[in-house]
Amino acid sequence: LATPTALMVGSGMGAENGVLIRHGEAIQTLRNVDTIVFDKTGTITKGRPEVTDTVPVEGYTKEEVLRLAASVEVGSEHPLGEAILRKAREENLEPYKAEEFEAITGKGVIARIGPSQKFALVGNRRLMEEKEVDYKSLEDDLSRLEEEAKTVMLVAVNRKIGGAVAVADTLKDDSVQAIRELERMGLKTTMLTGDNRRTADAIAKKMGISRVLAEVLPDQKVKEIQKLQENGEIVAMVGDGINDAPALTAANVGIAIGTGTDIAIESADVTLVRGDLSGVVTAINLSRKTFSKIKQNLFWAFFYNVIALPAAMLGLAHPLIAEIAMATSSVTVVTNANLLRRARIRPEYQKKEK
Ligand code: ADP
Ligand code: MG
Repeated sequence: LATPTALMVGSGMGAENGVLIRHGEAIQTLRNVDTIVFDKTGTITKGRPEVTDTVPVEGYTKEEVLRLAASVEVGSEHPLGEAILRKAREENLEPYKAEEFEAITGKGVIARIGPSQKFALVGNRRLMEEKEVDYKSLEDDLSRLEEEAKTVMLVAVNRKIGGAVAVADTLKDDSVQAIRELERMGLKTTMLTGDNRRTADAIAKKMGISRVLAEVLPDQKVKEIQKLQENGEIVAMVGDGINDAPALTAANVGIAIGTGTDIAIESADVTLVRGDLSGVVTAINLSRKTFSKIKQNLFWAFFYNVIALPAAMLGLAHPLIAEIAMATSSVTVVTNANLLRRARIRPEYQKKEK
């Protein structure tokens, strides 16, 4: 009775506070977690990037760079592609006809565009290097934009660089506070992203995240989690996307953002109903409080038995008293579990709102 009652009250409280626990063990594992890994796009940030800068090389205009990029991204479902398409639409730039569209995970997209079937690429440095496009003339612009925490995509036509398009994504309102609180609670925060090192570092610095794992291809995310585990760290992974699902499963506890994809939610042990990161603080608090309740309950359960059993053996306890003690022990445990409801599990900084 001591353990399940506390777990039941705990998961009920979680639900009331927007933390849904799918697997009971998660409450117990969360307490031992020492590292929290966050996906960047859609988890730390809102996941709706906006185009902020367009940089053409000589011989190109901004409009042409944007139009080329949009033509290739027509077939893309990536938020970066959607940002480019939205911007092109705003500027009334009609995309060229595109064929043989191909998305290269973690790198970018390619297609043949226009009547002369030009081979066009939009993507990161890795993609350009793979397709042997020289982008050195843009390196200074790239570094500058990345230091502003922007994600930069290079645009090339027929293996010649044409320009770059930069996007920025806004942080969720409570991201900074939640990270600070988690660090204060003694947890090591880590950002895991496919984005480039400089952009990732710039965002991590704004947030106070202590470790950054950048330029990780989608299929390598699981490996990064396993590496941390081999180091002896107990890892909770927080993510929202399809590409986070395997990492959510690999982590000791997977935490899905409720506003994210169904696949992420299916793969996780815990779902945060509200999309914000404060839910992670609540989940950890919940687990710690629930666990200390379990310990108290076990104490009370044993306490009664330790006193009553010897007394009964010595004939000091009347059977009626023993009956009463037995019942009281159960009542104490259930009552004590219910006292868990009084615990504060939402972070302090949320007090003012509700
Ligand atoms: P994240 O881990 O942030 O979800 P991804 O693994 O999806 O990132 O992508 C990593 C990088 O690959 C992006 O930062 C971008 O440089 C490049 N990339 C991916 N998809 C596209 C696309 N459709 N257009 C341009 N670049 C892309
Ligand atoms: Mg994401």
